[in-house]
Amino acid sequence: MSAMDKTRAAAREFLDLVAGTPAPEWRTCFSTDGTDEPTGFAPVCDVEGHDPDDGNVYSCCPNPVVECDSGPLAAYLVELLNADRAAASVGIDRETAAHVLWRFGHEGGYPPGDHAAALLRLIAGADVVNRARFAAGFPALAEAVRMASNDRDGIARLQQIAKGGTA
Ligand SMILES: [Zn+2]
Repeated sequence: MSAMDKTRAAAREFLDLVAGTPAPEWRTCFSTDGTDEPTGFAPVCDVEGHDPDDGNVYSCCPNPVVECDSGPLAAYLVELLNADRAAASVGIDRETAAHVLWRFGHEGGYPPGDHAAALLRLIAGADVVNRARFAAGFPALAEAVRMASNDRDGIARLQQIAKGGTA
């Protein structure tokens, strides 16, 4: 593993734990330093009533809010983190995508063997903190479960992967 891969994995693991959800999507945000530029970053807030174009942080928003003291630096880190997130989801193989689709009752899926079915049941039923822990050991499976349950286009992307395409 290269130094870059090591630091990337360590940062991701840390942010997953603080955010309490594996591989959140990131946005720049106005944080607490009082400047009129979005100099911080935070996970995307998908609470209804929080306009996606509203870059402020409210009590509805997930942690963490990271202050960078620089708009360009915050924007750069958001791009890096979201690129890592996209790269991680590409690591989901056809079989994993099909098993998760089956678990969530969608077209294009089929059941795994007993052992994998038990593991899938555990991950799908875990709370966000434990899901982050599963993600350390089973990154592709945890990411596929996260996509199926959180992402608006998650099922469609998993169906693409199960068919042999990329997300
Ligand atoms: Zn919010």
